Amino acid sequence: MSGKVCLVGAGPGDPELLTLAAVRALRAADVVLVDDLVNRAVLEHTRPGTRVIAVGKRGGSKSTPQAFIERLMLQEARAGHNVVRLKGGDPFLFGRGGEESAHLRAAGVGVTVIPGITSGLAAPLVAGISVTHREASPGVIFVTGHEKDGAGERIDWEALAASGLTLVIYMGVAKAGRIQERLLAAGLSGATPVAAVASATLAEQRIATGTLQAMAQMIQRAGIVSPAILVIGEVAREAVEQLAATARSAAA
Ligand code: SAH
Repeated sequence: MSGKVCLVGAGPGDPELLTLAAVRALRAADVVLVDDLVNRAVLEHTRPGTRVIAVGKRGGSKSTPQAFIERLMLQEARAGHNVVRLKGGDPFLFGRGGEESAHLRAAGVGVTVIPGITSGLAAPLVAGISVTHREASPGVIFVTGHEKDGAGERIDWEALAASGLTLVIYMGVAKAGRIQERLLAAGLSGATPVAAVASATLAEQRIATGTLQAMAQMIQRAGIVSPAILVIGEVAREAVEQLAATARSAAA
């Protein structure tokens, strides 16, 4: 009997934000393949003796090749084991869960998917930002800030700037200067409110606010580092004002 693979979203960081389905899957797992961004505290839900394999893929540092991860999952499932593939946030949103699931299905392995709370929703929320708002924004765009510049770049920054929707940018910290430049060149106002939220829902959580024209500088000054979410749009205005008020009262 072949085992199964369950692709599980671990949520943004705080282990309390795990779903009941995720806890159940962890309890049933023989082996868990876990990404870097996943809070290790969630592994308390595994049974004693469950094998845990770290397969980090963090930009710039030691990473496990995708092909190796896929082979490992196949091998374990074919050996009859219950495999859990645990990913930060939601397993499909910038998480390669879709690719992995397609690969496993093509190889004849049963796959189930458990959604997770994505950081792009949790991070604005902890900063007091509602990404949609009846007056300020009729929608929201999730976009990566990590795409290569120049030829091959598929992000239409003009369209994003013209959309009037909230922009939630993943993996944008290292490229904040470039993103700022692109959006300004595309006609988005420099006065557009911006919030950056690092390590949302974790003890190390940090929030910085400002405006698009000084976004990169704000990120640097506030010591915002990856993992962080950038929220750009009118909906961030209240968070900007709140943080300014807190700073004023702290100074008084
Ligand atoms: N599948 C994940 C995203 C993986 S891409 C999800 O749904 O959340 C990795 C990016 O997610 C990071 O570069 C960062 O932009 C964002 N991210 C993940 N965890 C985060 C957290 N706790 N706080 C802020 N951003 C986070």
